[in-house]
Order: sequence, then C-alpha cells, then structure tokens
Amino acid sequence: MNLSSPIQYIPKVGPVMAGRLKKLNVLTVEDLLWHLPFRYDDLSLISKIATVQSQETVTAIGTVVTAKNQYTRNRKQIQTVTVKDETGLLQAIWFNQPFIIKNIQVGDQLAVSGTVEKIGSKTQILSPVYEIVVPGKKLLHTGKIIPVYPETEGISSKWLRGRIDYIINNFKIEEYLPSEILTKYNFPEILSAFKNIHQPESMQPIDNGRQRLAFDELLTLEIIQQTKRREWQKQILSSPLKIDKTKISEFISSLPFNLTKSQVLVTDEILSDLAKNKPMNRILEGDVGSGKTVVGAIAIYATYLNGLNSVIMAPTEILAEQHFQTLKKLLEPFGLKIGLLTSSHKISRIHNPCLAGRQAESRINVLIGTHALLEKKVNLDKVKLIIIDEQHRFGVKQRSILREKGDTPHVLTMTATPIPRTIALTLYGDLDLSVINEMPMGRKTIKTWVVPPVKRNLAYEWIRKQILENESQAFIVCPFIEPSETFSSIKAATEEFIKLKKQIFPDLKLALLHGNIKSKEKIQILTDFKNNKYDILVATPVVEVGIDIPRATIMMIEAAERFGLAQLHQLRGRVGRNDKQAYCLLFTSMETKTDITRLKYMQTTLDGPKLAELDLKIRGPGNIFGEFQHGRNFLKVANFSDLEIINKAKNEAQKLISCDPKLDKFPILKERLKLSTISDIVPN
Ligand code: ADP
Ligand code: MG
Repeated sequence: MNLSSPIQYIPKVGPVMAGRLKKLNVLTVEDLLWHLPFRYDDLSLISKIATVQSQETVTAIGTVVTAKNQYTRNRKQIQTVTVKDETGLLQAIWFNQPFIIKNIQVGDQLAVSGTVEKIGSKTQILSPVYEIVVPGKKLLHTGKIIPVYPETEGISSKWLRGRIDYIINNFKIEEYLPSEILTKYNFPEILSAFKNIHQPESMQPIDNGRQRLAFDELLTLEIIQQTKRREWQKQILSSPLKIDKTKISEFISSLPFNLTKSQVLVTDEILSDLAKNKPMNRILEGDVGSGKTVVGAIAIYATYLNGLNSVIMAPTEILAEQHFQTLKKLLEPFGLKIGLLTSSHKISRIHNPCLAGRQAESRINVLIGTHALLEKKVNLDKVKLIIIDEQHRFGVKQRSILREKGDTPHVLTMTATPIPRTIALTLYGDLDLSVINEMPMGRKTIKTWVVPPVKRNLAYEWIRKQILENESQAFIVCPFIEPSETFSSIKAATEEFIKLKKQIFPDLKLALLHGNIKSKEKIQILTDFKNNKYDILVATPVVEVGIDIPRATIMMIEAAERFGLAQLHQLRGRVGRNDKQAYCLLFTSMETKTDITRLKYMQTTLDGPKLAELDLKIRGPGNIFGEFQHGRNFLKVANFSDLEIINKAKNEAQKLISCDPKLDKFPILKERLKLSTISDIVPN
C-alpha cells in the first residue's frame, strides 16, 4: 500500500467508512492527509484537579474511580465518570451517550478536556473530550492543541485524528519538491508540514505547514497550465487567416448599435490572434449582457471571409437556439449559412457542415450546437474557429474533443462568470485573457433592494402592479439548496410555485422551470414566457444564465443569503438586458447582520468581478469557487487571495519547466502530476 491506495484498506476504515469519507472527498490515503482542520481547540493546559479554576478550559488526567450510567425521570440517560488524581476528584458528565461507559473501565487512566465548573465543593466538566491514556502512546485528543475537522455523518474529528495519526506513522511520506525551493521559502518538508497541521505542538507552525501545502497545490496547477500552454504554442498553422479590415468594418457598421470601447478592444485582440500562425486560445470574460455574442460574430465573419467555417457550442439547447436566431439575423445578410445541431434538432446530413448538402447553397458556414456536437459522427473537418459559450459548464475533455475535430482551430471560450483578474490569470493560466468591462450605452443600472421580511407582502403587491400596469414580467428564483439540481431543490421550487400560484398571485399566469423538466418542454416554457404567455417564471437557480427575455424586468431571489454575490450578480443579469428599467429584489430567510451587510453590496455595486472580489474577502475562496470546482483535487488549501504564494508558485513553475520541461530530474513530482489529471485540476 502507498499513499495513492484507496482509503478503504487502512485499518478501521473498510467499505462503510470509506463510503462516508467519499462525502468529504477523501478517496485515497493521501486525500486524508489533505483533509485539513478548519479549527483548533487549545486543550494544552494540563492541570492538577485541585488547582483548576471555574470556567477554565483544561485537561485533567487521573484514575477512573467510578463510571456509571443513570436514567433521569424523563427517561434520558446521564453518564458520570469520577476521575481522581493526587490532588482531588473531578466528575465528567455526558448526556445520552451510554456507549462512553462501555469504553471506560474503573482503574483506567483517563484524560478529560473541557470547561470546568465548580459547584460547591464539586468540580465538574460537562461533555468533555476524553481519551484513555495508554503508557508509551502520545495523546491525540486531549492535553494539546487539537485539530477539529470538517465532519460528516458517522465520521467524527476524533475518528479522523486516529486515522491520520495511523497514516503519519505507517506510510512513507516522501518529499517531492526540490530542496532548493524548500530552502528558498523556508518551507517545512512534506512530512513535517502534515505534522504541523494535524499534530501541532503549538499554534505557530500550523501556518507554515499550510503555506507549504498551498504552494504545492498552486505549483501543480501552474505546472499543468504552463505545460498545456507550451504544447499549444508549439502548434504552427500553415496558413494564417487574412483579416479583411474593410469588409469587417462594413459588418460592424451594419450593426444596429455602436460597439462599446471594451468590445472594440477585445475584438482587436481576437482578430490579431486569428492573423497569427499559432492557434488562438483565449478566454473572453464579460458580464451577462455585455455583448460577447457580437464579438464572437465578428470573429466568425473574419473566418468566413477566408473560406473557413466556425462552430459555437452552447451549454443548453435554449442557449444554442438563441444563438442560432441571433446569428442568423446578424450574419445571413452577409451570405453566411447558419445551422443548428442539438439532440432535439438534428439537421440531415449535417455530419460535415461543409458538405452538408450537395448544392453549394446548402453548405453551412456556422454550426451552432450543444453537446450533440461532440458525438463521434459529427465531423468538423473544415472548422477553423471554435467558440465555446458559458465555458465553465463544459469539461476540459469536452473542450479537447471539439478542438480535435477541427482543423487545428482557433478556440475562443466565453464566460460570464465574474472572476477577479488575478484569479482568472491563475485559473486559466493556459489561456490568454480578454475582458469586456463595460455595459452597452443606455443600459440602465438594475435597481437592487434587499427586502426585509416585514415588507414581503408589499413587495408582492409591487410586483403585481409592475406586471399589470407596466407590462412587465418577473423571475422568481427559489432558494439555493444544493449545488446541483437535486430532488430537494426541485421539491422546494414546486412547493413555492404552488404557494405563489394559489395564494399570492391567483390572478396572474405562472410557470415553473427546473432541471427535471425535459429539454423540449423547457424550451417551450421559455418561448411561451418570452411571448408573454406567462407573467411570472418560478425557477430554480440552475436555469440558463444567458437567456434573453426582453420584457422581464424583475428578478426576485429567495433566500438570497445562501448565494454568493457573484452568483446573485449572474442571476440579476437575466433582467435589464435592454433599455427598460430593471429591478432585483433580494429576499432573505434566516438573516444575520453580516448577511445583510454583504447583500447590501448588491445595491451599490454593479461590477461583477468587484462583487466576486468582495465575496472573496467576506466568505473566503471556497465558497465562491465551490460552484466551479469539479475536480476533487482542486485547491483544498490554497487561497486565491494570497497573491504572494500564487506568484511564488508561478515563478517556480516557470523555472522548473523551462530548464526541465518533462521534469525528469524530479521523478516523484512528475508522478504526482500524472496522478492529478488535468480534469481534476482545471475548474472548467
Ligand atoms: P452576453 O455577453 O451576455 O452574451 P449578449 O451578446 O447576449 O450578451 O448581448 C446582450 C444584448 O446586448 C443583446 O441584445 C445585444 O444585441 C446587445 N448589445 C450587444 N452589444 C451592444 C452594444 N454595443 N450596444 C447596444 N447593445 C448591444
Ligand atoms: Mg451570452
């Protein structure tokens, strides 16, 4: 057995515990070492019983003189253990944990830790942490600084401490970083780092251990990204595209609006990529509604002018359909043929878009589709430009399947996920980054309010008034219960829908949309909503981000405190996509002061990346990026707000790769990198 063996096979784990550990993302022995405490309890003060003060948190060690289980009048059970040292007696008391008495025998040496209470002459500790002292074995749960871990049902911190101790003592934990790096940054060796974190002698070395692990994670990420980037840059295109500036200007002037400064800038970046003899690999980040599609359309047109084809992959049928309609309008007048390929919309003989029909006029220059594009039979031989919309929904694998189908294509990924720039550069280190950071002119800011519970009914009245008097439509987004669309979120949405329909808005037309509804039906519901057949769409949070419903001006979000600010901002972006005044109402369920303060930023800040940055400060990175992190190995320790470590990792990765691209001099590190496969590491 080694560190990468399944956790199941270490003593006292087995299939049942392994199943529970899976919920904590612990699959291998090493994963358990990387399961880090979220808190430490300082139980290091060991006192003689006679000297402890009331309300002091201490550890006392003595011999068990009595251990008994008693029933109270209302059938509850109390466990009392009396411990004696040379100075006095102490009572440890637990409630309804009869198994404790089975574990403790009279005569045992027992360590108990907790907060002491003195009642008269009695010294007591309620519900203490306890541990039987075995001669020659060090204490794990009492008498020192004790780590407290993220737990799950059936897995306690106490149990985790025992298993981690077993691994530390019985497995070979080899150093994999070059010693120069360790010396340069004064990092502990890997074994010491784990000991510092899981079994600290004092508080002081904990942070050093964490820094070391955070560095390791970021270094791995950086090496993988930079290797990918190098490989990508090795590709040479035999014939770079020619950019026909005149024709492209004509196309841009034909648009019903002027491009924003930002759009002009990113368009230039993209067109100059296309003119290079290396394939483009760029990510375009821009808020919902900032106008990414038209930028994509310009790139498509430039490609078309070279006699070459393009493909757009959208994450859902609804978005594919929407792109299809938009691009038809924009590009058909310039002679381009647009095709749509989704699982419910199959074009005959589409398998090669260039040869889709026998006649020249039925050839397709731009193919828009969903995952259906990835199917084996779809052949994209002449495709030179691939655009992937709403990028975080696709896996890396899917992206590379599509890329391999094309003819060493240029790839542009578009995302509305607001990520602060520094973080984007780390996350997408293998890509070039373009950002649209302004909204089209005349777009009104979305008025946002945090609505206190007492005003709920007034808010409902206000929504009714907007719908009846201003021909508005509204989204009502149900609470975020689970990160993925599970049974419980669907049930909650359905209940909310029935309540709204029967009690609040019996006079209005409501529809319900959630992930369990079939794709065709979903499109129908959204089309009907767009055509004003419904006034209110009740939806779960995972519904399409990019949809365009011009009349929808109200976004009401339930239990808003459960969302990150960046997420709320994305939801809010579904309204206010034109010149009408739009509104966002944030309802809270169990509000606390910090929740309200945090949510109020939504009222004053309209900049997505800035909100993401605020979230980073307030809630920590785990929360924001949780939604984007699929890989189980993806950043457990590292913190995106720690720019210093990010930069160290970036520099060291660069140095390592430039002098030893295959890392042959560092076989253990190389082996580790192989294990953390790319799909594990990269969030998209
Ligand atoms: P997203 O970036 O979310 O994909 P879209 O490309 O769907 O945004 O654009 C949102 C809306 O804004 C569309 O209706 C589009 O026609 C419009 N739009 C795009 N650019 C501009 C602009 N420069 N001025 C005015 N409206 C624009
Ligand atoms: Mg879009």
